[in-house]
Amino acid sequence: EPFISLQNVKKIYGSGTNQHLAVSDVTLDINAGELISIVGPSGCGKSTVLMILAGLISHEDGQVLIGNTDNPFDANRDIGMVFQQDLLLKWRTVIDNILLPAELLGLPVKESRERALDLINLVGLDGYEDKYPKQLSGGQRQRVSIARSLIHDPKLILMDEPFGALDALTREKMNLELLRIWEKSQKTILFVTHGISEAVLLGSRVAVLTAGPARMAANIPIELPYP
Ligand code: ADP
Ligand code: ADP
Repeated sequence: EPFISLQNVKKIYGSGTNQHLAVSDVTLDINAGELISIVGPSGCGKSTVLMILAGLISHEDGQVLIGNTDNPFDANRDIGMVFQQDLLLKWRTVIDNILLPAELLGLPVKESRERALDLINLVGLDGYEDKYPKQLSGGQRQRVSIARSLIHDPKLILMDEPFGALDALTREKMNLELLRIWEKSQKTILFVTHGISEAVLLGSRVAVLTAGPARMAANIPIELPYP
C-alpha cells in the first residue's frame, strides 16, 4: 500500500468565467521512504501538486490519500517544506530559525533543541548555530531550510525547486548533500524541479508533468534504475 496516492487529481484556479485549469489527471503513488522527483516546465502545475499534498489548496476531481488508518496523517504535524527562497527570519539565529516549526507546534523545548543540534550536524553546519542568515552563503541558508523542515520529525518533506536560486556548482553540491541527508533521515521526499538532470540524479523515480493540453494524458511516471 503506497504512503501517498494521487488518482486523477484535477485543479482549477478561479471560478465562473475566470477559470484556469492548472492540472488534470495527475496520478502518482509514492512509497514511504522514497525520494521522488516531479519534473516539468514552468507553469505545468508542479507547485500546485505540492500545495494540494500539503493541504494548502483544495482540488476539484480525483483522490488524494496520504497515510493509512494505522498511520493517520496530519498535514500540520507531518509535513515539512523547503522552497526556492529560504524564508529564514533575519533576526533569528540559525538554531532559532530551525526551531521555529517546533515552537509553533508547541513541542518540548529541551528535546527540540537537542534535535536541532543533531540536524545542524546532519546538514553539515556544525559551529554555525549562533550565526545569522546574512552571515551564510545561499547554499548554507538552504541547509538551514532543510534542517528546519525536519525539526518536527515530519513524515513527508515537500521541496519546491529548493536549489533553483543557487549557482550551478553550489546546486550540484547541494544535490549530493540532499541524497546523503535523505539516506540518513529515511524521510519520504517529493522534490520538484524544472531541471531534468537534477530530477534524474535525485529521484529513485521521476514523475513527468507536461504543460499545455497534452498534460491530460501525459503524467507518466518513468521507472529508473537507482544507482
Ligand atoms: P509550476 O510550479 O510547475 O511552475 P504552478 O503549479 O505554479 O506551476 O502553476 C500551474 C498553472 O496554474 C500555471 O498556469 C499558473 O499560471 C496557474 N496558477 C498558479 N497559481 C494560480 C492562482 N493562484 N490563480 C490562478 N492561476 C494560478
Ligand atoms: P539542470 O537542473 O537539469 O542541470 P537547469 O535547471 O539549469 O538544468 O535548466 C534546465 C532547463 O530549464 C534548461 O533548458 C533551462 O534553460 C531551463 N530553465 C532554467 N531556468 C528556468 C526558469 N526559471 N524557468 C523555466 N525554465 C528554466
